[in-house]
Amino acid sequence: CAAAAFIVHHRMQNANPSHKAADILKEFEEKCATPISKLKQIADAMTVEMHAGLASEGGSKLKMLITYVDNLPTGDEQGVYYALDLGGTNFRVLRVQLSGNSTIEYKEFAEASIPPQLMVGTPEALFDYIAAELAKFIADESEKFHLSPGRQRELGFTFSFPVLQLSIDSGTLIRWTKGFSIDALVGKDVVAELTKAMDRQGVDMRVSALVNDTVGTLAGGKYDNKDVAVAVIMGTGSNAAYVERAQAIPKWHGPHPKSGEMVINMEWGNFRSSHLPITEYDNTLDADSLNPGEQIFEKMIAGMYLGEILRRVLLRMADEAGLFGDTIPPKLKTKFALRYLRFSNYRTHIMSAMHHDTSPDLKVVGEKLKDILEIRDTPLSTRKIVVSACNIIATRGARLAAAGILGILKKTGRESIRDSEIPDTVIAMDGGLYENYTIYRNCLENTLNELVGEKFAEHIKLIHSNDGSGIGAALLAACNSQYI
Ligand code: BGC
Ligand code: MG
Repeated sequence: CAAAAFIVHHRMQNANPSHKAADILKEFEEKCATPISKLKQIADAMTVEMHAGLASEGGSKLKMLITYVDNLPTGDEQGVYYALDLGGTNFRVLRVQLSGNSTIEYKEFAEASIPPQLMVGTPEALFDYIAAELAKFIADESEKFHLSPGRQRELGFTFSFPVLQLSIDSGTLIRWTKGFSIDALVGKDVVAELTKAMDRQGVDMRVSALVNDTVGTLAGGKYDNKDVAVAVIMGTGSNAAYVERAQAIPKWHGPHPKSGEMVINMEWGNFRSSHLPITEYDNTLDADSLNPGEQIFEKMIAGMYLGEILRRVLLRMADEAGLFGDTIPPKLKTKFALRYLRFSNYRTHIMSAMHHDTSPDLKVVGEKLKDILEIRDTPLSTRKIVVSACNIIATRGARLAAAGILGILKKTGRESIRDSEIPDTVIAMDGGLYENYTIYRNCLENTLNELVGEKFAEHIKLIHSNDGSGIGAALLAACNSQYI
C-alpha cells in the first residue's frame, strides 16, 4: 500500500504502446502521491474545517450537521421496529425484534435495487416505489414478530444524503449526492414526503427517526460495543459521524442535552483542501458529474468514482499511447462503464475484481477488459498497466480516507495518549467498498496505524459493523418511540 513504485518494472524495453502508457502511468502516480507528511497536513486541514463547520452554519465546506441524536442506544430497547435504508445502490427494509437486554431476537430484511430512472425522476415516483416495497414487506411478516396489539408500527428512516435536521424525525434535503438528482425534493422535508407516499400506498407507519447511514452505523455499532465513538461509511459514497461534546458546538442553540453529547454527521465527502492530490482526471470527472464542484473528497475515495477515475486514465492511454490498438475502444468512452456489473441484486466492483487478480497471466483482468470494454486479446504488459492504475487509485483513496479518520481522532483528542485513562476508540466501518475491496480496506487500516504510530495504534480499532446502519436506525426509532 505504501506509495507504490513498482510500475517502472512494467515499462517495456522497446518503444511500444506500453512504453508511452507507462510514462502516463508514472506521471499519474506522481500526482497521486500521498506521503505521510501530506496525509498529516490533510488530517490537520480536516480538523480545522471541523471546527469551522461547528462554529456556524455554513462556516465550512464541512456541514457538520446536528443530528438530534444525543443518546445512543443503551441495550434496553424493546419491541418490534422497522428500518428503511435508502442512499446507495440498493435499498433495504428491515425489521427487528429487540429483547431489551442488548440482543436482537430476530431480524428480517428485504433488499431491492433502485431502478436508475427513479434516481433522477420525481419525488413521488421514488417514494411511492419505496412505500410499495414497504407494504409488501409488511404483508408477509412472519409470526415470530410480536407487535404489541393496538400499536402503530414505527420506522427508522436511513436517508444517506445531506439533510438539515429540524428534529430527530424531520429534516430537509440540502442536496443530492452520488447518482441521485431529483430537484423537486431539495429543500423539502423528506419524512413528510415519505409519510405521504406511505398514506398513498396504505402503509400505516410512523417515522420515528430520520438518520444518516453514518449515524445509524454509529448507533448500531455502539449497541455491540460501548467503545464505538466514530462511524465511517466507505461505499458508493463516503462519510463519517462521531460523538461530539455539546459544548464544542457553538452553532447549537437548542437545549443542552442531558448526556452533554451530540452526534455530528460530518458530510466529509464535501471536504476539500489545497493539500489533496487532485489530478486532471479528478477535475474532468468532477466537471462531468451530476454535482460539479461538490463532494470532491468523496470523488477521490468512494466506490462510485474509483472505477470512473480508472476509465479516464485508460482512455488517455488509449488515446495518446494506443494502449488498446489503433483506435479507442468505443466502450471505454462510456461514462461509468467501469463502475460495477449488475446481475439483478448482485454487483461486483470491476476495478476491485481486476485489482485482486493474482493469476500469473492476469486472467481476470483480460476477461473484464473483454466482457465490459470489448477489448480482446490484451497482452500481459497491458494487463499489468491496468492493475498498476487500479493500485494507484485505490492506494490514494484508502490513504486519504485514513487521513480523514486521523482528522476526527485529532478533533476529539483521541489521537495521542495523554494518560492511560483514555479509552480505546472503536470505529464502526461499513459500506460495500470497505466490505469487499480487501486491498483497499487493508491499505486504509495500515495507513491509519502508520499515522497514529505504533504506541497508539493498539488503542484504535476498526470493526466492520455489518448492516449497522439499518439496525441502528431501528434502534434509534425505538429510542424515539411515541410510546415511551
Ligand atoms: C452522502 C452522505 C452519506 C454517504 C455514504 C454521501 O454521498 O452525502 O450523507 O452518508 O454518501 O452513504
Ligand atoms: Mg448503505
